[in-house]
Amino acid sequence: MRVHSSRGNGMASRDYYDVLGVSPDADQSDIKKAYKKLALKYHPDKNPGDKNAESAFKEAAEAYDVLQDQEKRRIYDAHGHEGLSGAGGTAGFSDVEDIFRVFGDIFGGGGGGGGIFGDLFGGGGQTRRGESLRAQVQVSLEEAATGTTRTISLRRKICCDLCKGSGASPGTQAMRCETCGGAGHVLRSQGFFSVRTPCPACQTRGEIIKDPCKKCSATGLMHKVDELEIEIPPGIEEGITLRLSGRGNEGPRGAAAGDLQVVIRYEPHTFFTRAEDDVRFELPIAYSQAVLGAEIEVPTLEGKAILTIPHGTQSGKVLRMKGMGFPSLHSRRRGDQLVKAIIEVPRKLGVREEELLLELAQIEEKAVGTRRRGFLDRLKEYLGRR
Ligand SMILES: [Zn+2]
Ligand SMILES: [Zn+2]
Repeated sequence: MRVHSSRGNGMASRDYYDVLGVSPDADQSDIKKAYKKLALKYHPDKNPGDKNAESAFKEAAEAYDVLQDQEKRRIYDAHGHEGLSGAGGTAGFSDVEDIFRVFGDIFGGGGGGGGIFGDLFGGGGQTRRGESLRAQVQVSLEEAATGTTRTISLRRKICCDLCKGSGASPGTQAMRCETCGGAGHVLRSQGFFSVRTPCPACQTRGEIIKDPCKKCSATGLMHKVDELEIEIPPGIEEGITLRLSGRGNEGPRGAAAGDLQVVIRYEPHTFFTRAEDDVRFELPIAYSQAVLGAEIEVPTLEGKAILTIPHGTQSGKVLRMKGMGFPSLHSRRRGDQLVKAIIEVPRKLGVREEELLLELAQIEEKAVGTRRRGFLDRLKEYLGRR
């Protein structure tokens, strides 16, 4: 944790990153997200008369004001609170209206009304999009190679079939909010400024529902479990997120639906692992196969194939089966299958095998290979010097 204190007024200010609960290398979207969460929690409309909530609300806004500004953040990172007060960077916010004024704009308040708070307080009137949803799908490595389709069950919000999404009990209607005239926000004058704040009567909806629909509690949305077919393209990588636009929650009152994000996970495989677009596996071979060479049937992503072990293959040698890996998501080239040959030394021998090996050992004693002969010569010389 980083601690900065401002010695000037004797009051210690909390570290801005701690205030927002983000790490010092957080990016702009994390910072914005963290601030939105706090602003929602401590919003004065939700905590009327609560002084602690108000100061927490101000503290979060001050932290956000600095961290969302590249220059202010740079100064703060280098010199802490003192750096900013010296440069006249931030004086904090004197009152809550200040915060609405500044961040109403930052959050694209403009014509939308209510800025960040319009978004947050279930409002935004007719234009608020449905939420995005997330799901996870597990595929085998073979499926990842060839591509596949999966059907998943997804609980999502769709338009309420009782009120047809209006939120009002059938036979009744939502009434236009008289407090704000349907705009969802009201203007209050504050010194020279006109400040736009969320309408307290309708919470930015712009309408009042006197007789709420019983099925959806006036939200206009109900839950439904949908079966969705998901197309998984060949070559899909572990951890990748597929975005299915418009397959998330539907929005209230006919607003656009959010997206569905599907995260792909690989099932563990008995033999294979993926490395970039190559598939790797280890193949145990016998000493005799390594020496003499062999043709061995091996599994591949799309079935099986014959692998030629060249004679004289050393243990640990990687043999490449060209084009037998994963199709690339990014190009037309295909990965390879990389087979690591591991020579296995038998722990038990039959009588005949032992006879043959003893005979082999006697022959090897006389005719050692070049590599070993070189090693033995150097070993003899080394021992002779001691
Ligand atoms: Zn309804
Ligand atoms: Zn209103």
